[in-house]
Amino acid sequence: MGTLLVRNADVLVTMDDAGTEIPDGGLYAVDGFLTAVGPSHELPAEADEVVDARGHVVLPGLINTHHHFYQTLTRAVPGAQDVGLFDWLRRLYPLWARMTPEHVRLSTQLALCELALSGCTTSSDHQYLFPNGSSLDDQIEAAGPIGLRFHAARGSMSLGESDGGLPPDDVVEDEETILSDTERLLRDHHDPAAGAMVRVVVAPCSPFSVTPSIMRESAALARRYGAHLHTHVAETLDEEQFCIDTFGLRPVDLMADLGWLGDDVWYAHGVFVNDHEIATLASSGTAVAHCPTSNMRLASGIAPVRRYLEAGVPLGLGVDGSASNDSSHLLAEVRQAMLLARLAAAPSLDGGPLLPARDALRMATRGSASVLGRSDVGSLEVDKAADLITISLDRLEYSGA
Ligand code: ZN
Repeated sequence: MGTLLVRNADVLVTMDDAGTEIPDGGLYAVDGFLTAVGPSHELPAEADEVVDARGHVVLPGLINTHHHFYQTLTRAVPGAQDVGLFDWLRRLYPLWARMTPEHVRLSTQLALCELALSGCTTSSDHQYLFPNGSSLDDQIEAAGPIGLRFHAARGSMSLGESDGGLPPDDVVEDEETILSDTERLLRDHHDPAAGAMVRVVVAPCSPFSVTPSIMRESAALARRYGAHLHTHVAETLDEEQFCIDTFGLRPVDLMADLGWLGDDVWYAHGVFVNDHEIATLASSGTAVAHCPTSNMRLASGIAPVRRYLEAGVPLGLGVDGSASNDSSHLLAEVRQAMLLARLAAAPSLDGGPLLPARDALRMATRGSASVLGRSDVGSLEVDKAADLITISLDRLEYSGA
């Protein structure tokens, strides 16, 4: 990989603990890891690759903590445009059941390209249907040439309609298949090392599409391999009611009962949580992927972002699937998170404080890195990966800024 020098940035934003921003800043990297970050005149003068970042802001690459790449091929589907989560799913499951390995590969590359163009350098994906011979290997193979770090979540659904679940029977798998395929993927692809390009995540889909036993077995399996756990929790009131009716527990209590708390676990959404549940997440280190556009698109609700941040819950940002977001634009999602948190605090009679833009960007960098369990990305500091983005200020839309 050799050496890389980036210099003369108008501002380099490190996202370190102190929030250091360096005017006329730059960085130097050897074999993909940073060895110096500071004012341009303090950096080495030469490198194998030199980038003059004059007229640009340099930031750590953004990190996406929740997506369903396959949904990039089912955007704007009639009948799924104006309904909430459960009806939206019922409309889309039959289309998703027709996916082939080629669809999985194409949608993976499409989503990763959209993410890259919007400033993303690391993304997770939650793939929980494997129809017509498709597998997570299709995704991992397709992701390689795009060049983003990829946390591939082996999702699953085991509770079909005839057993009281939401998905049709033809898209669910039996438990033995799920667990043996997940273990194979962990053995073949999971890389725990610093700078890893691929990690495998164990990710049963949601309380209304899997059995309690697959949740427990998945947790045990992931922990044997030191892999992370991911699922949808507390996304909608439909889901909350399903958990109370079926298990006699609210979603977070159900997760606690299943062994799904800890700093190796992250939930997508976390919209409907009370103060006690927020405290449970904070004390156990359980993380949340905030997906504001999807929550608005499906009229799910507003996640308590300020309360999560105040309580110390690890909080990252996700675009969610393109059937409930319409795009994979991660920088736009940062702005969406800032705006929705402000709206949730409205009306602000005391004049603030409103969620600052820098806090929203921190959620998508340091926050998302902690959600995925990575200490090697999310900020531009010595010994971390040189995952950076540059934004040109010489554009019409930045005039006057
Ligand atoms: Zn999702």
